[in-house]
Amino acid sequence: MRVNILGVGFNDISMEQAIQNALEIISKREKAYCVTPNPEIVWLCRKNEALRDIINNADLVLPDGIGIILGAKILGTPLHSGRVPGIDFASALFAVLAKTKGSVFLLGAKPGVADKAGAELTLMYPGLAIAGVSDGYFTDSVALAAKINAANPDFLMVCLGAPKQELWISENISRLNVPLCAGLGGSLDVFAGNVKRAPVFFQKLGLEWLYRIIKEPQRLKRSLSLPLFVLFVMLRRVGIAR
Ligand code: UDP
Repeated sequence: MRVNILGVGFNDISMEQAIQNALEIISKREKAYCVTPNPEIVWLCRKNEALRDIINNADLVLPDGIGIILGAKILGTPLHSGRVPGIDFASALFAVLAKTKGSVFLLGAKPGVADKAGAELTLMYPGLAIAGVSDGYFTDSVALAAKINAANPDFLMVCLGAPKQELWISENISRLNVPLCAGLGGSLDVFAGNVKRAPVFFQKLGLEWLYRIIKEPQRLKRSLSLPLFVLFVMLRRVGIAR
């Protein structure tokens, strides 16, 4: 069952259910991928059919931002389970993988960041195996996929920013032998300690996006799609927009 928001179908599942699904995928050695779209990406999908298909074909489509929850509510098809931020999904999965001696490959961000994130994650989740790391500024995806396959991880974090990471997963999943890949944006920068997440106060109020704009004003242009998204959802609700 998916909740359709401007053409993108979201799973209405809690964090616990999302982790359960991920663990099932990993234990069955399925080849699956997870995406965590925010309103910016849903907005992009309106014009980019290929991206929309990639996202809708994902095995898990998790509602990353408060904007998605708000959009679903306005459309009259609420996401009862609330939001499942990508970075929290990754953290919760690491906590379980640490207990089961599972492994992760960290792909993305500037050179050195994935190594630093790996070191931090090993401290935060003793038992979690870092199968390998690679920065996000590579040119040869075939060689990279071979390196990832040789490392044989249970889970591949793809942090190239959206929509680059979703396109990369879709283009390369056939050559990857990894049970679960997930597009997780700037999460490696946060795990490495290079970027601070919004204080819990902002997170609880669903204002993480506002904190990011304050901290990184260059994101403002990108973030303009948020009010456009909300406006469009409202127009859709009253039957004006298609
Ligand atoms: N990035 C990358 N390769 C690229 C472009 C970007 O690895 O070719 C990384 C970048 O260094 C950063 C992340 O992708 O770590 C994007 O972070 P951002 O917070 O902008 O992601 P979002 O979740 O907002 O898409």
